[in-house]
Amino acid sequence: MAEHAFYLVPSDPFYLPDDERNAEFFAFFKEVSPLPNANGGYDFEKYDDPVLVDSGDAFEAVICPGCCARLEMLGDGEWGEHYDWWQSVMEQPRNSTVKAPCCGTETRVVDFKFDSPGAFARFAVGALEPSDSDYWEDEDRPYGLLKPETLARFEEILGCGVVQIWQVRT
Ligand SMILES: [Zn+2]
Repeated sequence: MAEHAFYLVPSDPFYLPDDERNAEFFAFFKEVSPLPNANGGYDFEKYDDPVLVDSGDAFEAVICPGCCARLEMLGDGEWGEHYDWWQSVMEQPRNSTVKAPCCGTETRVVDFKFDSPGAFARFAVGALEPSDSDYWEDEDRPYGLLKPETLARFEEILGCGVVQIWQVRT
């Protein structure tokens, strides 16, 4: 059976909060997803370079920020034509620019979008099968999103926009 992990990352791929914001962000996450969760713990990651926090098995397509084209990773049950292109992009430095195959827009590697949502980040806080609380939207539990006011508080603490990522693992 699939497992689901939930991550919060800054919307700015290069943003790294200071220690005070780190601690406050993590403390609020523990309130939003109190123990016990499936992992019995939390993921707290910091990276020197932006790392792609993707949606795991739900990662279907890269979205071009220039023309919004869906660059499918799968085609007819096999790796699609864009898969190899994306693998080569992932080998580039994160702040370099590459040409999008759909429209030719010069795009920073870190600026591509994803379906299901994922993001490049230097900072991520998450949990495997996070616990429920009143901070989550009432619909679509347990794999829905945070209430807007919850997200707003995370963003205020972080001093940056926050992206919500559900990662499906089998
Ligand atoms: Zn494009």
